[in-house]
Amino acid sequence: MNLSDPVTSIPKVGPSVAKKLEHLGIITLHDLIYHFPFRYEDSSSALKISDLVNHVNEIVTVRAKIMAITPFRTKYGKVMIQAKLYDETGTVDAVWFNQIYVTTYLKKETEAIFYGKLGAKGKKLSLASPKYEVIQENAEGRFLGKIVGIYPETRGLTSRFLLDKIKSILDQLNYDSKENGILIKDQLSKKILEKYELVDIISALRKIHTPENEDDIKIAKDRLAFDEILEIQKTVLAAKKSRTALKAVNIKQNDELLREFVEKSPFKPTNAQLRSVREIISDMTQSTPMNRLLEGDVGSGKTWVAAAAALQSLKAGSNVAFLAPTSVLANQHSQNLVKMIEPYGINVSLVTSATRKQRNEEEISIKPTLYIGTHALLHDPEITKNLALVIVDEQHRFGVKQREYLLELESEQVKTGERTTPHFLSMTATPIPRSMALTVFGDLDLSLLDELPPGRVKIDTYLVNDGKRKSCYDWAKKELSPMQEFGRNEVENQMFVICPLIEESENMQAKSAVSEFENIKKEFLDFKVELLHGRMPEKEKTDILARYAAKEFHILVATPVIEVGIDIKDATIIMIESSERFGLAQLHQLRGRVGRSNKKSYCVLYTSNEDFPDRLKFFAQTDLGIKLAEFDLASRGPGEVYGTKQSGIPKLRIANIMDVDLVKKAREALEFLES
Ligand code: ADP
Ligand code: MG
Repeated sequence: MNLSDPVTSIPKVGPSVAKKLEHLGIITLHDLIYHFPFRYEDSSSALKISDLVNHVNEIVTVRAKIMAITPFRTKYGKVMIQAKLYDETGTVDAVWFNQIYVTTYLKKETEAIFYGKLGAKGKKLSLASPKYEVIQENAEGRFLGKIVGIYPETRGLTSRFLLDKIKSILDQLNYDSKENGILIKDQLSKKILEKYELVDIISALRKIHTPENEDDIKIAKDRLAFDEILEIQKTVLAAKKSRTALKAVNIKQNDELLREFVEKSPFKPTNAQLRSVREIISDMTQSTPMNRLLEGDVGSGKTWVAAAAALQSLKAGSNVAFLAPTSVLANQHSQNLVKMIEPYGINVSLVTSATRKQRNEEEISIKPTLYIGTHALLHDPEITKNLALVIVDEQHRFGVKQREYLLELESEQVKTGERTTPHFLSMTATPIPRSMALTVFGDLDLSLLDELPPGRVKIDTYLVNDGKRKSCYDWAKKELSPMQEFGRNEVENQMFVICPLIEESENMQAKSAVSEFENIKKEFLDFKVELLHGRMPEKEKTDILARYAAKEFHILVATPVIEVGIDIKDATIIMIESSERFGLAQLHQLRGRVGRSNKKSYCVLYTSNEDFPDRLKFFAQTDLGIKLAEFDLASRGPGEVYGTKQSGIPKLRIANIMDVDLVKKAREALEFLES
């Protein structure tokens, strides 16, 4: 037999069991032996009945015989089975509810192992619905009296059944013959196993399913975790290989230009900004496409870095595409970038669904152009022609998106006959823990903006229950317009109110925004309030943001679209409704919408729940993005946090992605395997 054979090749596994196994994602023998317990129950140390008195309220194991067993009905009509168990030291009761079939297995004088919680009513001890396994005299249990794995189950397939079938495969595994067993190959050589103190794969599989002690479980996990990380490394390495086989336009480094850009900046760039620009520019001098991630907390000045890099390409005569996740943000970028880039004699062109229609032939000039828009840009042959650099802003799913974008671009290029792949620069405020950078994002080079521009003030975060909402609104009124009491109401500071996140549909999201808008208007009678949501026409959205930036109104009620990137200097308060629905990374992004000048700023989280969950309490105390990312990662897993779910990167079942040590070892081993 082979591990790739279907589960139906196991004796007594027919189509109906196979169907149930499929619910668990198990199709082949391989899948089955890689279906690991999610926890273990240890019933290896049985107690004598006379000892039980010292273990009330604990889970205990007893090996005993049945003295008497009787079913009867409770007054509520439920079936209850009561038994008296005995060994040479005494007797104890056991009860089961609604499990009438118990009496078909357990009869007078039957010997069994029992495992369950020990309760006490006065002096009377009783086991509550214990698990049991009938055994012959002097025999060992198969499922009790030892450490046994508890598996993810499905209707009609119990852990005992799964373990039974898994054991039948484990017994046949061997390294040299498929005639009398099932052949398995260990991908790690003896030498590597020795070097990293790991056990061979058959031992690991046996130990994870049928451990004799706690050590076995650890030893097995060490080995299987190693394999998982190795698997990811292989995927990532393959991606890197296929990238380095591509050709990019190499941009000659123009130091003179960089110096001029720095000098003309309205502010002094931070050292981190300068370092990052140099790293990016140096990548672009290569003829293999860059794949770099610029990582910097909200407000660290990523746009400036992107502009400096874009300018190098543009001045060398090649187009650049700047992609934003929403058209609202594309608009804002365009306004800023026009100021930074146009003085150098470069076209800056905002491409949205609205402008695309208007654009006429004359406008498409031969001058190099910085195109700004959403990723729909990549389908425009005018743009993809002569494109040397693609900048992707605020893309949480950077790793995945990058590949998608590249594919979109390639199909476009086949049509136009273009042969080069652009350099890629992604930007994010979601930091990547070191272990992730080495594994899942192993094909990304990182530039870090680990320094904020000077003068930024810490943002205070408050968790506010519904009961305190009114007084919080009153506080906000004073904060927004300190002179309001004296009858003056010019816009001094500004406030965002973010509606609950509704993922189901944009329509529902818009609806909830409208009703929140009505609420806020009623609460803040003397203030000017506006609304922004995804269903509004493009032009209207841009206008509102422009008026907001020009301080024409106090409060913007918005859907979470504004999450990323929006830069409003005088916004000092952000209120977030139903904050428990957001991930920490998202909340951090939202919080970054305020505190963008040297004014003291505040973030207010509301919840309609009784209490705030721990992660929100953690959020309120933590302003470091990396700490938040790690917390998110530990509680939600990498797939959720970094959107790598559909990326072809295998899911981790055993390995901890935060285990830097493990990751390093696996990387090292892979180099060894490849050489
Ligand atoms: P983010 O990294 O969140 O995208 P932005 O690029 O939007 O940050 O920059 C945030 C704000 O800080 C902008 O108003 C920008 O002009 C300003 N800024 C960027 N770099 C500096 C700097 N070195 N000194 C002062 N202000 C800066
Ligand atoms: Mg930004």
